[in-house]
Amino acid sequence: MEKCIHLQNNNNKSRYVMEKKRFLNFSNSRYKSDLTSKQKMTVDLKFNAKLTQADPHFKPVLIIGQLRHLNILKFSDIKLKLEPRVTEETFTKAVACLHPSPTDKISLYLDVATLAAVPLKCSRHNTPSRAHAITRLVKNNTLNVNEENVVIVCERSDLFASACAVVRAFPLYSRKTANNPNARVTNSDTDIKNANDNFGKTLVNVEFIVVEKNGTIARNELDAVDLKCLQEVEKAIRLTARIIDTPCNEMNVDNFVEEIKRIARELNCESTIIRGEQLRERGFGGIYGVGKGAAVPPALVLLSHEPKGAQETIALVGKGIVYDTGGLSIKGKTAMPGMKRDCGGAAAILGAFYAAVKCDFKQNLHAIFCLAENSVGPLATRPDDIHTLYSGRTVEINNTDAEGRLVLADGVCYAQKDLKANIILDMATLTGAQLFVAPIPKSTNIKIEGFQRRLKGLSRRQGRMQGCPAILNEYEEEPSKYNVLTAPMPVVVHFEEGAQEKKNLYIFNRLLESLLLAFSGNYVCTHHVSYPLTYVALSPERDRNNAQSSCAGLFVGAHLGFDYPGIWIHVDMAAPVHFGERATGYGVALLLTLFGNHTNCSMLQEIASNDSEPPTKRVCRD
Ligand SMILES: [Zn+2]
Repeated sequence: MEKCIHLQNNNNKSRYVMEKKRFLNFSNSRYKSDLTSKQKMTVDLKFNAKLTQADPHFKPVLIIGQLRHLNILKFSDIKLKLEPRVTEETFTKAVACLHPSPTDKISLYLDVATLAAVPLKCSRHNTPSRAHAITRLVKNNTLNVNEENVVIVCERSDLFASACAVVRAFPLYSRKTANNPNARVTNSDTDIKNANDNFGKTLVNVEFIVVEKNGTIARNELDAVDLKCLQEVEKAIRLTARIIDTPCNEMNVDNFVEEIKRIARELNCESTIIRGEQLRERGFGGIYGVGKGAAVPPALVLLSHEPKGAQETIALVGKGIVYDTGGLSIKGKTAMPGMKRDCGGAAAILGAFYAAVKCDFKQNLHAIFCLAENSVGPLATRPDDIHTLYSGRTVEINNTDAEGRLVLADGVCYAQKDLKANIILDMATLTGAQLFVAPIPKSTNIKIEGFQRRLKGLSRRQGRMQGCPAILNEYEEEPSKYNVLTAPMPVVVHFEEGAQEKKNLYIFNRLLESLLLAFSGNYVCTHHVSYPLTYVALSPERDRNNAQSSCAGLFVGAHLGFDYPGIWIHVDMAAPVHFGERATGYGVALLLTLFGNHTNCSMLQEIASNDSEPPTKRVCRD
């Protein structure tokens, strides 16, 4: 709901309307020159170490915070951004007028100085930073003028998530929305900028006011390393979202490989490309089998960062299905649109790899991209075909639309066999059912308390710290006792073959030591896995409603091998990869917070994974 405290009586109102009209005419001609559509503007984002002085009349300002933080804020803390247009009295009254339900905003000076409050409640569908609301407020309230400012008032632990949320409001891919003849197919950010140059540019300065835990305003500035980190993460998230937003005729496997090569050149790191028939010859039956029906051959691409003194080897494996028609088990006319986003895992890993290396990642980091187009054609894989994957295991294909686990199985095996990684994380837009995966409820009658504690602690922390771009339900919903955004995936095995029971139990226990993370939603449990017979990609005679997400994760784990001594993390992010029509760049922030301890950035280290953290029962509410 919008309010304007200028409107005290009718006289004032008419005066205000007139003044506003006059101002907007003036500002339109001044700010926007001959532009008619704000979507034609390219946006540059700049993070500043501290508040810089700006008259809102010339550089509009949007101030966003939680009500409890805005209440702490004194006019003297923010006056650099408001004077001489806004007085202390106006500011104080404005804060008192805010009643977020779920958000609220109020104009401080015409349309160019706005104060906005994020939702009061924090539930498992949002985070302490309320990052999703920040994205929306920024999207709806920035003016796309030559230069403007966004000021976030938050605690230090929420600074990273809030910054990422601002970035998500400014996607780069414009061919879908802009009537711009020069916006051409491109592989380079610079090209995009050049192409859009004729259509004006806008600079958004993002600044922070940090509220300390004791309720005072922090006086110290962001240090140079933190600033550099934010600036690189900005590039990474926008790169990831641009790749996902770009349709397959402009982002096929060739184009994706070029994107990776460009990043390799920029980071000065090694890349290895295995393509087409080479995949078959070297035994990558998963990636080859999924991609062989398409006009553009599939690829496995490796980027490696190997700094001196590294002790751990971390491999990130991304599913990069540039388009998923479903293959011969073809999707319907309503299920197929949007499948350009099936490369979301690989795109997020490219972004995260870029930002991590830019932040001086101290351990060996490999990014493995499993790229293919799941298409139909005379060479396409048929249901009933049997492929041998890189693990050496055979798979009977029952459903060619369950292709993600096949390419990931090859990727994780490669990470283990060839790269000797001791931490393997795979990330994918894997199962539609991921929308319905929720935290393990207390009632689960299996004895995994110790494991659950660790898993919950870790997933809660990651969910809290990375901020979430998409929400599944309305955020007004009752806060959950779990208060997480990433949730451990429940893994409950139905033992089908008596003779295998002992072995299955062993597998089960090993799996529980690995981490299955997913975005939270409603609850799905139970699934079937048969072992060690031929693996079934997705068995049609079994109930499709049974834990598809866990089942897909188990499939990948089975090819990695249940005796794998390292840590395996499986992330299914099918739902948060996009919000509405736009990719969110989900995954970059998650990976950076998960492995933040290995960067040189104190901000990331503070919010990084710490799996010894005991789970708390605290429900965050203001
Ligand atoms: Zn599919």
